[in-house]
Amino acid sequence: MPDIHLPEVELNIHTPKNTAEATIVENYVCTAENSPNIIRHITFDISGTALEGKFRTGQSIGVLPPGENEKGRPHKIRLYSVSSPTKGEKGKKHLVSTTVKRANEEVDGTFYLGVCSNYICNLKVGDKVKVTGPSGKRYLLPTNFQDFNYVFFATGTGIAPFRGMIMELFEQGFKGEAALVFGCPYRTDVIYPKYFSEMEEKHENFHYIKMISREDRRPDGSKYYVQTAIDDRSETLTPILEKENTLIYLCGMKGMETGIYWNLAQKGFLDYLDLRGDLASKSPLEWSWDEAKKLIKPSARTFEEVY
Ligand code: FAD
Ligand code: NAP
Repeated sequence: MPDIHLPEVELNIHTPKNTAEATIVENYVCTAENSPNIIRHITFDISGTALEGKFRTGQSIGVLPPGENEKGRPHKIRLYSVSSPTKGEKGKKHLVSTTVKRANEEVDGTFYLGVCSNYICNLKVGDKVKVTGPSGKRYLLPTNFQDFNYVFFATGTGIAPFRGMIMELFEQGFKGEAALVFGCPYRTDVIYPKYFSEMEEKHENFHYIKMISREDRRPDGSKYYVQTAIDDRSETLTPILEKENTLIYLCGMKGMETGIYWNLAQKGFLDYLDLRGDLASKSPLEWSWDEAKKLIKPSARTFEEVY
């Protein structure tokens, strides 16, 4: 396994107390138009700010929504994963993109609108927005990216960093194998479907796997989840996961990591995991779900960002 060299990054050039002003240059739905999950691709122009050229794919940008919370205090910033490559959206270092889902929820009969996601999704081209960042220093592609293969696991808007990473790899003539495993409830919720399908057609070494959880069922009646692709699509994934120079990245909803780690362990891919406690002394077949949840951590080959 080659050494993994992560790039140096600059952090928190702009902070919540010292925000930069960006201008919206793009804001469009990036799923099927009829998806009830409203997810938008948003591009900020950060020209003339100290942030220009500073965001790496895998990092996040902060957005400060205007107004106050119910306690009369100013709203706090929310983080959004950068979905453009390091050289910028469309190759322009003053453009940085993200992928935002409107976060709305009904609890006990009351419907709550997420403050910041709805604020961003409602912004129009030309509107100004207060931003911070960059944030995040390990969830990055290695500078020696050609030394590795990659399996990216995303649920929902967890796709954001992988759009940027996959663009970045292939724009630089990536020669290894890369697979994207993307999970969402319905086919209409697939994010950036055209881009990834075209990438798969264009590049023999890019594999695009969609796991749709609420339409079909697996033969045993369970849902198709990103982690079940390790079995369901093993003809594609096993040869990549078996290589000693493969890295895995996961991003999306908290909880997905345990399923992925569990399924990797059951197939013998233990090198992606850092086993704590007495897990390493037992066969994965003897582990309980609770101990797996508590005692499996990502190894150096695994990059995890879930919340
Ligand atoms: P909030 O106002 O914070 O509300 C959160 C949720 O609670 C909403 O669903 C809302 O409906 C509900 N709610 C509000 N009030 C109540 C109440 N009184 N009772 C019960 N429920 C209530 N998100 C993305 O879409 N794309 C990304 O790329 C992305 N990247 C991220 C990267 C990182 C590193 C992190 C930490 C988070 C990321 N997020 C991303 C999530 C994002 O930061 C926000 O958390 C998300 O947009 C919700 O923020 P909000 O202000 O819209 O919702
Ligand atoms: P979504 O569209 O609802 O899709 C999530 C998919 O994952 C669904 O198919 C869901 O299936 C499935 N799923 C549910 N539980 C799972 C589990 N334990 N393991 C694997 N798959 C599971 O997703 P979303 O609303 O966009 O949410 C994505 C999550 O990612 C949010 O929590 C968001 O905050 C987070 N996120 C994190 C980052 C980051 O950390 N950088 C960036 C972006 C987004 P069912 O619902 O049918 O069971």
